Amino acid sequence: MPARVIDLHTHSTASDGTTPPDVLVREAREQGLDVLALTDHDTAGGWAAAEQALPDGLALVRGAEVSCVRDGISLHLLAYLFDPDEPALAEALRALRESRVGRAEQMARLLEADGTGVTWARVQELAGGTVGRPHVAQAIVEQGHVVDVSAAFTPDWIGTGGRYDVSKLELDVLAGIRLVVGAGGVPVFAHPCATARGRTVSDDVIAEMAAAGLVGLEVDHVDHDEAARAHLTGLAGELGLLRTGSSDFHGANKTVRLGEHTTSEAAYEQLLAAALAGTPVLGG
Ligand code: AMP
Ligand code: FE
Ligand code: FE
Ligand code: ZN
Repeated sequence: MPARVIDLHTHSTASDGTTPPDVLVREAREQGLDVLALTDHDTAGGWAAAEQALPDGLALVRGAEVSCVRDGISLHLLAYLFDPDEPALAEALRALRESRVGRAEQMARLLEADGTGVTWARVQELAGGTVGRPHVAQAIVEQGHVVDVSAAFTPDWIGTGGRYDVSKLELDVLAGIRLVVGAGGVPVFAHPCATARGRTVSDDVIAEMAAAGLVGLEVDHVDHDEAARAHLTGLAGELGLLRTGSSDFHGANKTVRLGEHTTSEAAYEQLLAAALAGTPVLGG
């Protein structure tokens, strides 16, 4: 039997992707994927729609990507198969989403005050779920200031620390790992070496994360060059962490394709074995 095609990191309109969850699962199957994880930022809000539309032959891993921080550096924690009703994690995710709304409004108002034509009303229309900088970026693109969403992530616009960037609430990453594990889920560090997005954490921090219950490192990712992948592969071996790969698909907000990077069957099976919430993989 050929190896299953396993993509463990994607976004839908429940956060800052442009593909609705029901369309995403159909597209994933049409494009030959066997396993898809839905990992919207700080929310399980897309799970139900993805589940209802799940096509034959596709396994759905329900997850989220949790906004975290360590030493002032933002980092993203993938959380798989957690119990969405576990109160501590659910409350933390709610607080993260609430903070994102106030922060996006502040960004929009700063842009509006400078006569860019961007409005908070328009940003709200563009965001169907968890609001994020890509929605603000879309509004900047619509007003003709930059050519695409990526081009808005610069110091002049909304790149980290940029003119119109406003920070949001983030969980201390060790607390985040414990919350995910406490909700029976499996934490994996997303794109640990994505230097294009801003500063990245040291190997010592990754070792602390491993000690706190981290299960894997997302090694194969569009934002990692060969050197970063080699380094992370070595680190995963040293720390006893799984090595995953995934597309981080965001629809039209990024150029990456579904299944562009994938996870091995062996790593996937080990990841499933670490899930304790009783939240099953659906379909397949
Ligand atoms: P936020 O979570 O609201 O701070 O926004 C971060 C999101 O913006 C990430 O999850 C990506 O989807 C997107 N993003 C970050 N950097 C870039 C970039 N250089 N080009 C396109 N999208 C980006
Ligand atoms: Fe995103
Ligand atoms: Fe991310
Ligand atoms: Zn992501």
